[in-house]
Amino acid sequence: MLASSITKYFPILRSGSGGQVYRCFSVSQTRNYSSTPDNDLVVIGSGPGGYVAAIKAAQLGMKTICVEKNETLGGTCLNVGCIPSKALLNNSHFYHMAKGKDLNNRGIICDNVTLDLDKMMGQKVKAVSALTGGIAHLFKQNKVTHAKGFGKISGPNEVTVIKDDGTEEKISTKNILIATGSEVTPFPGIEIDEESVVSSTGALSLKSVPEKMVVIGAGVIGVELGSVWQRLGAQVTCVEFLSHVGGMGIDMEISKNFQRILQKQGLKFKLGTKVTAAVKEGNNIKVAVENVKSGKAEEIDCDTLLVCIGRRPYTNNLGLDTVGLQLDSRGRVQVNSRFQTDVPSIFAIGDCIDGPMLAHKAEDEGIICVEGINGGAVHIDYNCVPSVIYTHPEVAWVGKTEEQLKEEGVNYKVGKFPLAANSRAKTNDDADGLVKVVADKETDRLLGVHFIGSVAGELINEAVLAMEYGASCEDIARVCHAHPTVAEALREANLAAYAGKAINF
Ligand SMILES: Cc1cc2nc3c(=O)[nH]c(=O)nc-3n(C[C@H](O)[C@H](O)[C@H](O)COP(=O)(O)OP(=O)(O)OC[C@H]3O[C@@H](n4cnc5c(N)ncnc54)[C@H](O)[C@@H]3O)c2cc1C
Repeated sequence: MLASSITKYFPILRSGSGGQVYRCFSVSQTRNYSSTPDNDLVVIGSGPGGYVAAIKAAQLGMKTICVEKNETLGGTCLNVGCIPSKALLNNSHFYHMAKGKDLNNRGIICDNVTLDLDKMMGQKVKAVSALTGGIAHLFKQNKVTHAKGFGKISGPNEVTVIKDDGTEEKISTKNILIATGSEVTPFPGIEIDEESVVSSTGALSLKSVPEKMVVIGAGVIGVELGSVWQRLGAQVTCVEFLSHVGGMGIDMEISKNFQRILQKQGLKFKLGTKVTAAVKEGNNIKVAVENVKSGKAEEIDCDTLLVCIGRRPYTNNLGLDTVGLQLDSRGRVQVNSRFQTDVPSIFAIGDCIDGPMLAHKAEDEGIICVEGINGGAVHIDYNCVPSVIYTHPEVAWVGKTEEQLKEEGVNYKVGKFPLAANSRAKTNDDADGLVKVVADKETDRLLGVHFIGSVAGELINEAVLAMEYGASCEDIARVCHAHPTVAEALREANLAAYAGKAINF
């Protein structure tokens, strides 16, 4: 069943043809606009938002095409984002453990540990190609047609695919889903060559370990990639405009603890500091910085500069003007609560719309958007979208921070539990971190969970589930947790919040 606004355009949702025929019109062919479109949905972009939406749509019986301009499927996340960064974080952590005292302290004597960077990069490439290839397989399995080329909206019900050889094909469709994602935000005046002045993309494929690296931005991606190269031997300084690490949305107490842990590992931070210029002189890059408050200026030398100041929506040449769609002031596609634009047959999800730029947020939006097109309910609670920083230890959070609750005037309480008092973390000699929960003081309802710990990224999902179901701290504290596990620390923090005292601390 379609929303009435869409039926206005196309009274019949499906033509009833069972086959997955990718019917296109070459530019020279005449099209009959009065005929029923050949396809139910054309998704532009195959990132986590687009590919998941395409599969879901096909599973719901929609005849679906996914257009992707890049050689491989999977978008930023699989090709130059989540997946390659996590491969390097994982392996650089192993190297760091072997090279430093960590493994030796456990009786695993590692002498003459050396780094084969090519091989480490090779493992990353293998993981990326297995996963991007996996999407191609899933498309076949679910009968999603993959159209290779640049997708341009040429009408409310038409997408033109511009192929690498310059030829064009037109696809008629009842619905269009924009899932074109985002791109690296450039730093004015600093030219990225992806060799010595790199974006996150270049930092995932450096050919050698830098001696000195400056990272502009100590947000999530900056500290993750800074950690990778610091563990592999670089001296890394992160310059951050804000006065804290970990980006927007992190709880300040967690951020301070996190900064302390990273500093102990060797990362240096210049907070409340802005980069004003970067000049290349041979193999050296002089980075000019200025304290935001005092205006005190200094220069930092490095051989590799990583520009990591964020990402911006990508909608270049998408043809939005053809259908009269406008972007908001930050370049995002504007949608309503059903992810529908002002053109009822055109929808948008993921990094190119408002909200946190995260793969799982894009995936969830993709699924509920196509369910909505099919008449289903559309609901997402952005307060329950978790954030994770995959350093070691990891940092993860969901819901409100203490600062947000103060600002909103909520009467709240806090429960904390240090990993130093958690048996599993202690046993593993991996006890840096804590769990902090914030809850409504009167109702005991859980309002936020903030976690630093080696498996925080996994454990946060328990907190998300609890929040989605409106759990109280007592609910979680009374749930039996396996022993010994780090998850017991989450239970104890909830116990501290609801009963006023944890058992083991
Ligand atoms: C280094 C790094 C690490 C990250 N780590 C994480 C993480 O650990 N966890 C997390 O949740 N998020 C992470 N992210 C963010 C995550 O990658 C994005 O939020 C996510 O990929 C957004 O998904 P999307 O589908 O909206 O867009 P994208 O993944 O950007 O995909 C958009 C796709 O659309 C294609 N496209 C664009 N325009 C067209 C067109 N006109 N025609 C055809 N194709 C087009 C693009 O080629 C691309 O493949 C990371 C990002 C980076 C850069």
